[in-house]
Amino acid sequence: MKKFGFMLLLLLFVLVVPEHGQAASIKNTIVLDGNDITSGQNVPVENVNSTVMVPLRMIAENLGYQVGWDQSSKTVSIEQQGRIIKLVVDQTAASVDDKTVILTTAPLLRNNTTLVPIRFIGEQFGLTVEWDNTKKIVNLITPQPPSDNSNPNDGTTGGGTTGGGTSVVVPETGSAENLTIVNGISFSENRFAIAMEGNAVPKVTVQKNPDRIVVDLPNATFSDMFGSGQELDPNLNGQMVVTDYPDVSKIRYSLYNTVPYTVRFVLDLNNPKNYNVSVTGDSTKLVVIDLNAASPEDTTTQPGSSGRKLIVLDAGHGAKDSGAVGVTGKYEKNFNLAIVMKAAELLKQEDKFDVVLTRSDDTFLELKERVAIANNLKADLFISVHANSSGSSSASGTETYYKREASKALAKVMHKYLVQATGLSDRGVRSGNFHVIRETKMPAVLLEVGYLSNKKDEALLFTEDLQNKVAASMVSGIKEYLGIQ
Ligand SMILES: [Zn+2]
Repeated sequence: MKKFGFMLLLLLFVLVVPEHGQAASIKNTIVLDGNDITSGQNVPVENVNSTVMVPLRMIAENLGYQVGWDQSSKTVSIEQQGRIIKLVVDQTAASVDDKTVILTTAPLLRNNTTLVPIRFIGEQFGLTVEWDNTKKIVNLITPQPPSDNSNPNDGTTGGGTTGGGTSVVVPETGSAENLTIVNGISFSENRFAIAMEGNAVPKVTVQKNPDRIVVDLPNATFSDMFGSGQELDPNLNGQMVVTDYPDVSKIRYSLYNTVPYTVRFVLDLNNPKNYNVSVTGDSTKLVVIDLNAASPEDTTTQPGSSGRKLIVLDAGHGAKDSGAVGVTGKYEKNFNLAIVMKAAELLKQEDKFDVVLTRSDDTFLELKERVAIANNLKADLFISVHANSSGSSSASGTETYYKREASKALAKVMHKYLVQATGLSDRGVRSGNFHVIRETKMPAVLLEVGYLSNKKDEALLFTEDLQNKVAASMVSGIKEYLGIQ
């Protein structure tokens, strides 16, 4: 909690540094009935998104389960006592017998070794699985022969410390794709924080009699390890009692719904309380419900309303969507991200802005998700960064797009500085029917900085100098438009 609170302070209104290396190389130990089955073995046990992953062959060799592998479909099957689990590499949807379940972390391939989530598999076969988070030890305990225990697979997970949230059954209509995973929560300095991975946009509402703030995360569930940090019963309910802050008595949480998946948090208040909501980061996000907000009558305040302006910067494309590919093969998505990261850094130094990035690493987002981030946060401005491409290799220059009339003034100001920064030919401020600038509700523009299909433009766009200039021009444009010195 303390540590998380400190991290929270660091991250509050500051962009999360892209968290690569989620597969941290922490040394994990796996103990089966008291014997360390990882000792002396050079096995790549990994901790991925707080899920301990072990090589498939360890399951076969050390647990004696029957293991199969289908190369073409990348499907692992694990069989024991008539029960069969099927897992597919890179997919979070798995099956136990004929029931679909969600894994919080998909099986993965690492140097020709298939890594699978040990806790999930162990629990499916009735092992008691305990996780010692401080020592990084997974304890597997084989059930006793059924002489005095007629139901060894009764779903308990040992001492109640590990919770029951290993997996959840997916209803027929449920989707295993793009689930947001809630890793942990904290309450400190009158701020409730939710650490999560995914793109769920929190829906926050106030309810009365008794006073409470309800935070719903759509398309979300708890991670395996949520239960190791917080109380979480097998039905995925729990609560955190708050003693140090007079405004809040406790925070309840649950997997509130499974059609669609919804994680709900309820802050039980001792008195009506104003709040701000902020979301920072990208693949690893921090949602903060800040109860330190000023005016008690305004309960719908959003970040930016305290005199600070909230700018959403949108790096176009990402991951599987590379955007335009330059003449020498450079990807537009990387250019867009570099510009946005630099601009965010500069805006942060101004101390007058809250900045939210739709992505801060190589992640794929739907256009509507980008829009939802800005609209839900009631951002003051939305700026999407792109680079252009044309069938004609001679096309070159800088364009700025708007769609709604309300965005035209912003487009003009942004373009003025952008053209100065690139020094490329001025192709003008244009109206363009792009989703992200059409569906957003605040002034929104889309910058086409230059043409990657043009050899000269492409070379220029990937220079550090040009990128710094473009980022600085965005800050100049934002400040002029908002009338900030
Ligand atoms: Zn683009």
